[in-house]
Amino acid sequence: MEHIESMIRNLAKTRESAIADLQKLKDAGTKIVGAYCLFAPTELITAAGAVPVSLCGMTNEPIAHAEKHMPRNLCPLIKSSYGYAVTGTCPYFYYSDLIVGETTCDGKKKMFELLTKIAPVHVMRLPQSNDRQEDMQAWKQEIIRLKNRIEQDFGLTITDEALRQAIKEKNEERRVYRDMYSLSKHIPPLLHGSQVHHVLHGSGYAFDKAAQLAKVRALIDEVKNMADRGKIIMPAGRPRILITGCPVGGATEKIISIIEESGGEIVCFENCGGAKDREFLVDKTIDPYDALTRKYINLACSCMSPNNARIELLSRLIDEYRAQGVIDVVLHACHTYNVETWRVKELAQKNKGIAYLHLETDYSPGDEGQLRTRISAFVEMLS
Ligand code: SF4
Ligand code: SF4
Repeated sequence: MEHIESMIRNLAKTRESAIADLQKLKDAGTKIVGAYCLFAPTELITAAGAVPVSLCGMTNEPIAHAEKHMPRNLCPLIKSSYGYAVTGTCPYFYYSDLIVGETTCDGKKKMFELLTKIAPVHVMRLPQSNDRQEDMQAWKQEIIRLKNRIEQDFGLTITDEALRQAIKEKNEERRVYRDMYSLSKHIPPLLHGSQVHHVLHGSGYAFDKAAQLAKVRALIDEVKNMADRGKIIMPAGRPRILITGCPVGGATEKIISIIEESGGEIVCFENCGGAKDREFLVDKTIDPYDALTRKYINLACSCMSPNNARIELLSRLIDEYRAQGVIDVVLHACHTYNVETWRVKELAQKNKGIAYLHLETDYSPGDEGQLRTRISAFVEMLS
């Protein structure tokens, strides 16, 4: 088990530890493109020979700075992201040659307006639904507009051949991470949720994708190999929990820790950074722009209306991962995810007959005691 722990530590790169790698890329003349959301079609960025980086802020420190320009009752992810940008404390933001935003939720799209004052920002106009032909056409045009912007800013041409190759590579990346987190389908799971989270989180800060994927494949092989030899001994009978809702990471890792310390086992993360993107590949048999259009407009994000895709995805994941409880994590002032909690609760309790817990939190440590009380009661109820 120590060997597996060490492989996971090696994969769990962080924003801080990856800065040196980013510096090397900049020195070599590589273009960096920052993005805040799953809707950014990263295949276009890699097809241009540029490197996509995630700019989402997930810590409390920059929030006070953001609140000088923004209302306090705004989602902490937006305030943290903006705080990092406006204080110049995020090297990823600083190194970005272009920033890609999308008109997702209200707070985020207004943040992009402020960011245009300090950096080159390209905002994609995301349709708020995906069930009409016009939505598809509009989103395809936005993808083509992004292609044109990248070509113009970086003085290059994105060929169809390069885009097809980028689609192939990104699909393979999705497949490998999916194989990794699928180890949690076992009873008991072969990896703890915190271990899966660290590997998934590290994927965003690994710029040598091929090397990182080789390490993830090696981890999967090693875990399976040890399990076959009876060398993985996980505690049996711990309640199996699926996490959904707003993105979880950074300061909200407190929830992951508390669930595990309370005796729960997180078997699936449906959120961004987990299954939401990786469960669906880009169709490589059709026109690449049509394929990217379909893939990204169908993301199960609460900014889409209706967002039946999230309920369908959750329904499948609850069955596949044999979840006994759903924890729906909502960041303060995230209205879209907050309103959807009703549907998720109904799916869990009425349709699936499993337990449901709604948690609202932010990036401060102030609610840890209250979270611990509620989560431990939930886990105890399931035990
Ligand atoms: S939850 Fe939606 S808006 Fe937020 S990062 Fe994910 S895809 Fe983007
Ligand atoms: S968590 Fe909610 S409010 Fe915050 S950026 Fe994502 S969708 Fe918007």
